[in-house]
Amino acid sequence: MPFRIAAFFLASIAGALLAGLTSQWRQLWVGAWIGALAWLLMDAWRAQQLVQALREDTVGLGARRMGVWGEIAERVRKLLRVREQQTQQAEERLKEFLAAIQASPNGVILIDDQGRIEWCNQTAAGHLGIDAERDLLQHLSNLVRDPAFVAYLASWNYSRDVVIDGPAAPSGAQGRPARLSVQVHPYAGNRRMLLTRDVTALEQAEAMRRDFVANVSHEIRTPLTVLTGFVETLQSLPLEADERARYLGLMGQQAQRMGTLVNDLLTLSRLEGSAPPPSNQWTRVRALLAHCEDEARGLSARLSGQGHRLFFALEADTELAGTATELQSAMSNLVTNAVRYTPGGGEVTVTWRLLPDGRGEFAVRDTGPGIAADHIPRLTERFYRVDRSRSRETGGTGLGLAIVKHIAQRHGAQLRIESTVGQGSRFMLLFPVTRLRPARPQMAVA
Ligand code: ADP
Repeated sequence: MPFRIAAFFLASIAGALLAGLTSQWRQLWVGAWIGALAWLLMDAWRAQQLVQALREDTVGLGARRMGVWGEIAERVRKLLRVREQQTQQAEERLKEFLAAIQASPNGVILIDDQGRIEWCNQTAAGHLGIDAERDLLQHLSNLVRDPAFVAYLASWNYSRDVVIDGPAAPSGAQGRPARLSVQVHPYAGNRRMLLTRDVTALEQAEAMRRDFVANVSHEIRTPLTVLTGFVETLQSLPLEADERARYLGLMGQQAQRMGTLVNDLLTLSRLEGSAPPPSNQWTRVRALLAHCEDEARGLSARLSGQGHRLFFALEADTELAGTATELQSAMSNLVTNAVRYTPGGGEVTVTWRLLPDGRGEFAVRDTGPGIAADHIPRLTERFYRVDRSRSRETGGTGLGLAIVKHIAQRHGAQLRIESTVGQGSRFMLLFPVTRLRPARPQMAVA
């Protein structure tokens, strides 16, 4: 400010001096007035220039000028630079934030107070079958017509989510969720944030859990009912000793059936919860096969007087990496199934060999009734049975192949089933090269 006052007086004095030099000394005041006026005009012009520069854009602020207007321009420029940096940072942060929401496995849609889409991520667009760019500012309820969703959106009661069917996929498109959970969260007055979540797998798992509990209850209820009946008979009727012994035998069978079921259930739950099988614990296939043979011969003798023709062949002396008890359980299951479902006099052939690609194949072939093609993909489902009565008669739980499949998966192996009705079946376990090695020569027993 002092500089400005000094400049004003200097201009006045310069005007007065100029007047003194060019005319008479009496005109000094006039000169001073003219000098002051010239300074004011100059000042107003510079102020005008600055206003103009601010009005149009800030390019005019570029050149550094003297005086108060120069300083104002400089300060405005600095302020603008700081603001620009802040805006840029805010924009970058917004971009990062939106990128994070884009990466979210949940769908996010922002709706304005009119119910129009302000922004949505690709996941939400995929879930609801809308276009993240083309459908901006469209009313969401016009795009998603599910009545439950439209009613939910209009209700303004968002304490719970709503579960709706996913949109039908257009031809060629894949991966649309079958069931969607949608929950709205209001914010900033009447704005709403909508979260979508694919709950297809969750609902399937829930349905499976319900089916599983129903199946287990059913499987346990049947022998339990039989047992209760026998107990009541024994309590109420005076029976002969041999009849009593027969009843107790039948009761024992039912109790054993329940025990087998509980054991299979425990095996499945152990398989689901335990650590992956080790890749450095080796078991000789020869020993596994020998155990299978013992079991098969015992079972065959028990089931049919005629017995079965049983063949066991080890074409390559190999060791398998994994959990020995699991490997034994998977192989025994396939072998005992073949014996159980093949009528007496039939043939069961069990082989272990190395395939040309290096994989190991454990194969069980039988000359039993065979299985129709439409049953084959479902055989490994829990409690799925083709021949229900044969399964029950021979102590089956309907869990055997589910256990085999689980064990195979844990060991990186593949369960393959081939069958022709009336001719027989072939069940194979294919083990990867990484789990095989040639058997080491056995140490001589001293
Ligand atoms: P289960 O305890 O009833 O034998 P599994 O899971 O082992 O249960 O087998 C499922 C179903 O597959 C059986 O109920 C049976 O109908 C069919 N199955 C399994 N193995 C054979 C086989 N070798 N021949 C014919 N049917 C078989």
